[in-house]
Amino acid sequence: MARKPLMAGNWKMHNNHLEAILLVQKISFGLKDKDHEAVEVAVLPPFTDIRSVQTVVDADKLKLVYGSQDISAHDKGAYTGEISGSMLAKLGCTFATIGHSERRQYHGEDDALVNAKTKAALKNGLTPIVCVGEGLDVRKAGEQVPYTLAQVDGALEGLTAEQAKTVVIAYEPVWAIGTGEVATPEDAQEVCGAIRGRLAKLYDTDVAESVRVLYGGSMKSSNVAGIMAKPDVDGGLIGGAALDADEFVKICRYRD
Ligand code: PEP
Repeated sequence: MARKPLMAGNWKMHNNHLEAILLVQKISFGLKDKDHEAVEVAVLPPFTDIRSVQTVVDADKLKLVYGSQDISAHDKGAYTGEISGSMLAKLGCTFATIGHSERRQYHGEDDALVNAKTKAALKNGLTPIVCVGEGLDVRKAGEQVPYTLAQVDGALEGLTAEQAKTVVIAYEPVWAIGTGEVATPEDAQEVCGAIRGRLAKLYDTDVAESVRVLYGGSMKSSNVAGIMAKPDVDGGLIGGAALDADEFVKICRYRD
């Protein structure tokens, strides 16, 4: 079955809940039914915006979906500051982003925690968007494929084939995030293709052909078409460019 491309806007720590409502409305206004048929469009706002996004999506019957930028590995309890999968599911989230490089870098998240969070998301019916990707030193050493595949192995440890099939993997070379430095379509294909190959090895071709593998790193309307033309790239995780409704809509309409 053909994989439906996914364009997910990671807002990072931008937009209060009122700005979030406005941005969601503007994005939805720019997207036509045929766009939603061709591409799944998601926004990943800060936790404090999710309830407002839910309200506007439900009230206006919008077709875009939404999710979180993180999730707790725990179900409930004395974990100050954490947000559980069941809380996110109750707010209508479709996705939970896990292991973004900024979480790995600034919050010390390792593969074991990414794995635990992936399981917490699945347990609560959320689709994990698991972020993987190498830093500049690794890229310079030409080790981007084994480095990234080790992160994939760590994230999926202990998942059944049925669970793994539903996961989204975002290949985000750290040197391309928020830097304006975009990977070439060939760079993106090299690692996204290797990730799909690894899924076939870890599970089977059914899993490998089902999982959506996204590219993320300074994706914009000017470079999205070239990257999306690659056979193993099934969408984008978009940071900076997702904060501008017109630009994000253009990215979602990359086929036009
Ligand atoms: C991201 O935040 O995941 C990202 C890819 O950011 P940017 O598009 O700004 O590089």
